[in-house]
Amino acid sequence: MDRYDVLIVGGGPAGSSCARRLVQQGLSVAVLDKARFPRDKVCAGWVTPAVMETLEVDLADYGRTRTLQPITGFLSGAIGGVPVRTDYGRTVSYGIRRCEFDQYLLQRAGAELRLGERFESMERGDGAWIVNGRTAASLVVGAGGHFCPVARELGARLGSSESVVAAKEIEFPMDAAQRRSCRVEPQVPELYFCKDLMGYGWCFRKGDYLNIGLGREDNHKLSERLQAFCAYLAGRGRIPADIPARFHGHAYLLYGHAPREVVGDAVLLVGDAAGLAYPQSGEGIRPAVESGLLAADTIVAAAGDFRRERLASYREELVRRFGAGGAGAADRLPVGLRTFLAGRLLTNRWFTRHVVLDRWFLHRSQPALALRP
Ligand SMILES: Cc1cc2nc3c(=O)[nH]c(=O)nc-3n(C[C@H](O)[C@H](O)[C@H](O)COP(=O)(O)OP(=O)(O)OC[C@H]3O[C@@H](n4cnc5c(N)ncnc54)[C@H](O)[C@@H]3O)c2cc1C
Repeated sequence: MDRYDVLIVGGGPAGSSCARRLVQQGLSVAVLDKARFPRDKVCAGWVTPAVMETLEVDLADYGRTRTLQPITGFLSGAIGGVPVRTDYGRTVSYGIRRCEFDQYLLQRAGAELRLGERFESMERGDGAWIVNGRTAASLVVGAGGHFCPVARELGARLGSSESVVAAKEIEFPMDAAQRRSCRVEPQVPELYFCKDLMGYGWCFRKGDYLNIGLGREDNHKLSERLQAFCAYLAGRGRIPADIPARFHGHAYLLYGHAPREVVGDAVLLVGDAAGLAYPQSGEGIRPAVESGLLAADTIVAAAGDFRRERLASYREELVRRFGAGGAGAADRLPVGLRTFLAGRLLTNRWFTRHVVLDRWFLHRSQPALALRP
């Protein structure tokens, strides 16, 4: 039987970040993922510079052979309205493609990779977890995204009572005619909010790729809303008329909206498995990476004693980093009032720059995660 200090289920940004930090600290680590990499992930692929800094990504090296789209401004407003343009005059974010980004992070993590292997089971045996009946690990990290099977082991009721964000998107390479007719500027992604502020659509050009999507806090009529959004974009001449019809869907949790247990005996959850995406923007890569690193430091500090109480400090680290969670003030407002306010505020340049973009989307007040050396 193979034996590792830590087995990580899921090789996305949460799993690979956790794996890299553990390997750097001298632990033996395996990452198990049902997919073979490079694999795609439904995602707009927008990352803030703090993520690149925390991950120690050499941007010049990364961008040499992969898509790395600098973002210097945004076009934003309400669906159906007239958007506002905000320019920063410098790079405030990047666009990446998840098939490239996740592969890059996983390959450099230095862990043993068990790709193409689905998690089936974990049982206690011989002072360790026995995963899939053939791999022993002192501790298991659940990094399998929203539907992570390890989260189920900790009691999460996947796909049932949890209140999720439901999203649909496409990402496709534009042909020459589509590139000519697409008026979205690569360095200025476009964000359009639903009038009830329950979600937003985006349109994001990364080099020759176009990514269009819509996410909402309810699943109600998502496809119809998406169609209406695309018709609005096409009507304003932003996107080519002949975009592919087949959008891909996914769901995930916003931090504090449906808390999951994240710590068990010799088990931790990170990233989407723990339900950590930022509530206002749905950005999940940064919390995935940061939680992966915080989990790794908790594991190292526990020094082989992985009882639940020894790992409980991880939960406190998450609260210290992301706050206590819970519904924000906007969530408590009646829909009619929210609609009224959205109509006013989303056309206001000050509100758009300082609240919507700086605070909700760029998290400019939250510096990159500082880790113990
Ligand atoms: C439409 C959409 C757009 C988004 N846009 C953005 C964005 O622009 N920026 C941003 O920061 N966030 C965005 N997010 C959120 C972001 O994609 C996630 O928060 C992020 O991918 C979480 O990373 P993770 O490592 O926790 O999980 P994932 O990236 O989902 O990785 C989980 C891994 O676990 C593996 N796995 C799952 N089940 C099993 C199993 N049974 N056995 C073995 N392996 C398994 C999967 O194959 C996968 O590789 C978006 C999400 C959606 C749905």
